[in-house]
Amino acid sequence: MWDCEKRDVVEAAREMAQKGLVSGTAGNVSLRLKDSSGRRLLAITPSGRDYDSLGVDDIVVVDFEGQRVEGELRASIETVMHIEVYKARKKVNAVIHTHPVFCSVIAVAGMEIPAIIDEQVTYIGGEIKVADYALPGSPELAKNAVSAMGPRNAVILANHGALSVGRDMREALTVSELLERTAKIYVIALGLGKVKPLPAEVVELERAFFASIYGENKL
Ligand SMILES: [Zn+2]
Repeated sequence: MWDCEKRDVVEAAREMAQKGLVSGTAGNVSLRLKDSSGRRLLAITPSGRDYDSLGVDDIVVVDFEGQRVEGELRASIETVMHIEVYKARKKVNAVIHTHPVFCSVIAVAGMEIPAIIDEQVTYIGGEIKVADYALPGSPELAKNAVSAMGPRNAVILANHGALSVGRDMREALTVSELLERTAKIYVIALGLGKVKPLPAEVVELERAFFASIYGENKL
């Protein structure tokens, strides 16, 4: 079942790898599934599988308790983080976890990225926070990530990587790329020794636009 949705996950995982957002088998991608019986399910990449040879049948379907419903392989180690995002964010239908270089620089420095470019606010919702460190795959990491992301579409995970979300897979991929692009711009600007954030009134306007599309909580 869900072959079309699983294909979406495979294609997004390959694109994530091709664009250099992860190395090797790192990172993971999931999609919320619609189930006629009302079960809350997601399709997610398996643990430790090379993206080049990843097939539709390798994608694992799990319920919101983390129990496998379909597939032979072990679901990603970060499945709990994806589940907690779907529980907290009703409009989110796709989640992508990456380890890109510039986000990781910010993750190591533990520096929040202020609102510095327009599309960052309209697509991500404003500043990009850094979630407190917790071990990969742990419930604490899931909790810290969801809490630091809040109503926005992306967050950086301390000493680890990044997490991006969207209403569909294409949007989550766009946010993943934009997040890394924003981190790169910020790191380079810091190197120049000068960062001018967007004017507060512009951020307010653009946040209102973001909230009109993605809002489910108050920003
Ligand atoms: Zn990771």
